[in-house]
Amino acid sequence: MSLVLYNTATREKEPFIPLKEGRVAIYVCGPTVYDESHIGHARCYIVFDILIRYLKYKGFDVQYVRNFTDLDDKIIKRAQEENIPFLELAQRNIEMFHQDMDALGLLRPDVEPRATEHIELMVDDIQSLVEKGYAYQVGTDVYYEVASYPAYGNLSKRDLEDMQAGARIEVDPNKKNPLDFVLWKECKPGEPSWPSPWGPGRPGWHLECSTMSAHYLGPEFDIHGGGYDLVFPHHENEIAQAAPLNRKFARYWMHNGFVQVNHRKMSKSLKNFFTIREVLDDFHPEVLRLFVLSKHYRSPLDFFDDILREEGKGLERAYRTLKEAKDLVGPVEETVHGQEASAILNSFIKAMDDDINTARALGHIYEGVRELNRLLDDGRTGSYDKTRIRAWVSAIREMGQVLGILVRDPDQYLAEQTSKSMIGSGLSTGEIEEKIKARSEARAGKDWAEADRIRDELREKGVILEDAGGQTRWRFEI
Ligand SMILES: [Zn+2]
Repeated sequence: MSLVLYNTATREKEPFIPLKEGRVAIYVCGPTVYDESHIGHARCYIVFDILIRYLKYKGFDVQYVRNFTDLDDKIIKRAQEENIPFLELAQRNIEMFHQDMDALGLLRPDVEPRATEHIELMVDDIQSLVEKGYAYQVGTDVYYEVASYPAYGNLSKRDLEDMQAGARIEVDPNKKNPLDFVLWKECKPGEPSWPSPWGPGRPGWHLECSTMSAHYLGPEFDIHGGGYDLVFPHHENEIAQAAPLNRKFARYWMHNGFVQVNHRKMSKSLKNFFTIREVLDDFHPEVLRLFVLSKHYRSPLDFFDDILREEGKGLERAYRTLKEAKDLVGPVEETVHGQEASAILNSFIKAMDDDINTARALGHIYEGVRELNRLLDDGRTGSYDKTRIRAWVSAIREMGQVLGILVRDPDQYLAEQTSKSMIGSGLSTGEIEEKIKARSEARAGKDWAEADRIRDELREKGVILEDAGGQTRWRFEI
């Protein structure tokens, strides 16, 4: 079976056939950089990172464009509050965004165009839309006339008349129709502005993606992605802007589902809003990644601390198995073939080919880890089958690379995980060791109550003690 993707435009899973053989051009709507990135961003960009990794794994030459909206009402307002130029604010947030995405192990796009660097191209597009009769000018503003484009509503499966009936009728004497949207708008005093045939102003948000995607990927490209909340009006408007300019635009539309926190929509007012940094303070980035991949990308994703903790435990167990294998057979960098391991790899590919079913694909990785564990168990009581062990490690690594998990050296992961837990427990290594020493002294003096008290105190802080061979070792519980 070859790759099948769900296309929002047809509401069906379709075989993926790229426009040019062996190449894939993809555009994903990027963030509006007015604030720190939150877990909604993490989900969206991890989902498309996996798609891109998988396309590359299948041998496609991928061209990935993701924009930065660095011009927007919220950016301007925030910059005015901080009394700094709006581009300084945008730049600061772009840098933070890059740090967050790098921490999550996301591949950087090939191009990250910024809206403010493409204003002239947008002005050209508006001019063409006005000339062709799809847009009209009112004073310094220019609006797109949705009634001029009969296919408006096709992507979101909405009917123009229903939408009009359902629209809250805002009193906007400038618009011919309440659904018409702004292409160019006049700026208030003190706001950034650019020259145009209609007077100084700035472009509307929807325009930047249709202009920049065509500029970097051409009038027709393979995949356009973004969060489900962008289907209407953003993506609908992008299509309406592109079509009259003879741009066939995207062939496959892919949208990821919402992130909810404790079954409720994430919002600052509900105080259930988490930034990526807040989550990474408590959890390893691979744990957040694993959590995102545990659900199909189109399903809603419910964010619970407990689930992340469970995912973290599973990941740590997998890394411990890999560490045991590494200690036994050394690092496995090359591809090692083994019949059973190849069968699981094929099942993994099948799951990914089926509209990037990461939840199922993860199941196959864990299946591989269980098999590896079984081989290690067998070895402990008999003899180790090192060839098969190497084949399983190789297959787990290969699958892990596609999903961006289990990609670290196991010793490195377990050390990073320990330092993360250390922040959470509030104890340094020295303090833990001191307490272990005090406990050993209590035990030597047969003060069992004190020894138990110290053990319980450490356990409360997530430190587990293991006594073996007269020695006490410790590790963090995650
Ligand atoms: Zn967009």
